[in-house]
Amino acid sequence: MSKNDFIIVGAGIVGLSIATRLQQLHPRAQLTIIEKENDVAAHQSGHNSGVIHAGVYYEPGSLKARLCRSGLVDTIAFCRAHDIPFRQCGKLIVATNARERERLLRLHERARSNGVECHRITGRELTELEPKISGIAALKVVESGIVDYAKICRKLFELLGENGAVFKMNAEVMGIRESSDFVDVETTTGAVSGKHLIACAGLQSDRVARLAGLTADFAIVPFRGDFFRLDAKRADIVKHLIYPVPDPALPFLGVHLTPTIDGGMTVGPSAMLALHREAYRKFAVSVSDVSDMIRYRGLWRLLLRFPHAGVSEFVHTVSRRAYLTAIRKYCPTLGLPDLVTHQCGIRAQAVSPDGYLIHDFIIKRTNRTTHVCNAPSPAATAARPIAEFVVGELAD
Ligand SMILES: Cc1cc2nc3c(=O)[nH]c(=O)nc-3n(C[C@H](O)[C@H](O)[C@H](O)COP(=O)(O)OP(=O)(O)OC[C@H]3O[C@@H](n4cnc5c(N)ncnc54)[C@H](O)[C@@H]3O)c2cc1C
Repeated sequence: MSKNDFIIVGAGIVGLSIATRLQQLHPRAQLTIIEKENDVAAHQSGHNSGVIHAGVYYEPGSLKARLCRSGLVDTIAFCRAHDIPFRQCGKLIVATNARERERLLRLHERARSNGVECHRITGRELTELEPKISGIAALKVVESGIVDYAKICRKLFELLGENGAVFKMNAEVMGIRESSDFVDVETTTGAVSGKHLIACAGLQSDRVARLAGLTADFAIVPFRGDFFRLDAKRADIVKHLIYPVPDPALPFLGVHLTPTIDGGMTVGPSAMLALHREAYRKFAVSVSDVSDMIRYRGLWRLLLRFPHAGVSEFVHTVSRRAYLTAIRKYCPTLGLPDLVTHQCGIRAQAVSPDGYLIHDFIIKRTNRTTHVCNAPSPAATAARPIAEFVVGELAD
């Protein structure tokens, strides 16, 4: 068995970015990327909203806040260097009542602490910018943009291959054994050995961490996000990304209107507990995923903390009309025929045993393995800085 210098598990945007960073720093290193699907970006990296986040929402000083800021700059630089279309269309976070306006003020402070270029505008200014959107105030985030992250992944794949990286596709990692000098990886299509392994397994990150002997103090809980797209006649309804003001008591950002880089417009995503980590059909069920969830007390505690959110997200998933009600709060002219069924994505969200969503990125280590255990949004935006961070720590 030939020995690799580095083995990467997972060909999503985080794994590919880490592989790229390693190749830049160690051009002669032997590098193998193991991926269980037959293409890159098969899961989260190819099923997301395509937003280049500016860093408004995140706890100041957290990894998310720091890496998102540099991620925006790096994503745009990468797109420019490789002719990948992107657009900095800006984002409007819209308050529709007095309580949301209060929250908007706090969000503005947080955004400013994170160094985000943004300013408050009145309801009238909002209508001048976006005649189809109604609200009493908004936060305008200047730098936010849109891109197709799957395209970025395909370019990274191409560059890595040109520079000598080996891709082992359709190979699922089933075992990891670490000795003093090497780490041996058992996959469904044969063994691979190397000096260091970096796992970026997204929805399976807790399971892969366990294979390496890490006792995980979290579990991945999958949240399904269903999108609609607007009928082509309404696809130019707004120019900016339009987001509601998030409820700080709830885990996700709310249903938003998102222009896509191919000229369309999506509405979504919802956030319902998924019964399968990696199947995109509605109501797909995996017995092993469900049984892991049932046995995880952190999930029960989370559900007890957010019973109303659980019910309302379920309603959004099954009822187009409920979804429409959420969006009409700030975009009143939309009607049911405008909503066309579109893709869904499944978020990998780490949940602690006491039932809290872990918001920040989590990276764990053994002697010869590193695991990116929690890389939720904005990890597509921040993938390159995450790679610098992980590879920097490896050098230390
Ligand atoms: C609905 C939705 C909307 C989002 N919107 C945005 C957004 O607008 N902007 C943003 O910045 N972020 C967004 N995100 C988050 C972003 O998509 C993810 O944070 C990012 O894609 C994570 O990348 P990853 O490489 O860690 O995971 P993934 O892309 O999921 O890749 C993990 C890979 O590991 C492979 N793998 C897993 N286990 C094994 C194994 N045992 N053996 C071999 N291979 C394995 C999987 O097949 C997969 O290809 C969104 C996510 C979702 C789901």
